[in-house]
Amino acid sequence: MNDLSHRELREMLGYYVTGKLDEPERLSLQAHLDGCAACRAEVAELRGTVRKLDLVDVARIDSEPSPPPGLGEDVIRHVRAAQSVRRPRRSTPLLIAAAIAALAIGLGAGWWLKPTPATVALPPTETVAVQVDRAPVDASAKLINHTWGVEIQLTASGFETGHAYQVEMINTRGERSSAGEFVGTGTRQMRCNLNSAVLRADAAGFEVLDHGAVLVSSTF
Ligand SMILES: [Zn+2]
Repeated sequence: MNDLSHRELREMLGYYVTGKLDEPERLSLQAHLDGCAACRAEVAELRGTVRKLDLVDVARIDSEPSPPPGLGEDVIRHVRAAQSVRRPRRSTPLLIAAAIAALAIGLGAGWWLKPTPATVALPPTETVAVQVDRAPVDASAKLINHTWGVEIQLTASGFETGHAYQVEMINTRGERSSAGEFVGTGTRQMRCNLNSAVLRADAAGFEVLDHGAVLVSSTF
C-alpha cells in the first residue's frame, strides 16, 4: 500500500480505530501515524466517537417501538454502516458515519440507551376445562380476553395429520360462531391460537368439530 495517497490513508483511520484493518494495512497506517501529527489528532478524536458508538446497541433499534420522529432512518443506516464488519473500499468514510452517530447520540441517547423492559405485558390467560370425546386426542385450552373477542389457545395432539377441524364458539344464548379451523398434526403436539368475535362476557364454551361431530368441548 505504498501508493496510497494521504487522503486514502485518512479515510482508513476510521477503520483503524475500530480494528477493521488487516494486519499489513494496520502496520502501514501505524507507520504513517508515527510521522503524521494531523492523522494522530484525527485518530484521537475518532476514538472518542467510537467509544460513544459502542454504547449504541444497534440490535435493539428494531425492537424499540417508537423512535423519536426526528431521528430518521438515515441515522440508523449510517450507524449500521459504521458498525458493519467489512468496509466498502473508499466509499462512505467512517468519519461521516461517526459524525452522524455522534449527532444521533446527542439527539437520541436517552431513547437508545433506555433499557428494554424485561417483560412485555401479556394479557392474562384463563385456563378452562376441556372434555375430549375422541381418543387419541389430548387437549387443553386457555382463553385470552381481548377487547375484540375471545382468543382460544389450544394445545393438543392426536388430531389426524393433514385433516382439517373446525372450532366454534358458543355464546350464552347458545348461538354458534366460527373461531377458525386448524389442521391436525398427529402425535406431534400443536399450539393453535383461535380467534372468535364473541366477547368473554358472552362466551359460554367452544367445541372442536370434525364435520359436525364433536371431538373436544369446553364449557366455561
Ligand atoms: Zn497523515
